[in-house]
Amino acid sequence: MGFFKKDKKKQRKREPPKRRVWGIRKETLQLIMEVSKESFPNEFAATLIAKRGIIEEINLLPGTISGGTHAILRTYMQPPDITLSVVGVVHSHPSGNVTPSGQDVQLFGKFGHTHIIVGVPFDLTSWKAYDGYGQRIELEVVD
Ligand code: ZN
Repeated sequence: MGFFKKDKKKQRKREPPKRRVWGIRKETLQLIMEVSKESFPNEFAATLIAKRGIIEEINLLPGTISGGTHAILRTYMQPPDITLSVVGVVHSHPSGNVTPSGQDVQLFGKFGHTHIIVGVPFDLTSWKAYDGYGQRIELEVVD
C-alpha cells in the first residue's frame, strides 16, 4: 500500500546520523597517544580534522599544554580558525579516567560533534569518543 511505502521511505531517510564522522586513521590515533605521553602529566588538547568521515589530522593548540587548568577549557577560550573540517576536540586525561567531566560535556556541545578523550596508558585502546552531548559513540580505527 502506498501509505506504508511512503512511511518506510521516511524511516530510511531518518536513519543516517547527523554526525558523519565514523572513523579515525590509526596513524592519527597513534600520534594523539604520542603527544599525550609527551605532555604527561599535563593535559594536551587539539582539534580533530576529518576528511570524508574519517579523522585524519589533529591541530595542536598552542598554550594548551600546561598543568592546572583543564586543557579543553583553554581550547574553547582560544578557538582556532574553525573550518568545516574541524569536527571536535581531542584531549587527554592524565588520570586515566576517560569519562568526560561536567565541564567537558558543556564544552563538547559548543565545539563540534565528535570528541575524543584519551587516558593513561595512552595505547590504542585507552580512549573513548563522545558526541556533542557527551554520549558515547563508536569510532572505527581505520588503517
Ligand atoms: Zn576533560
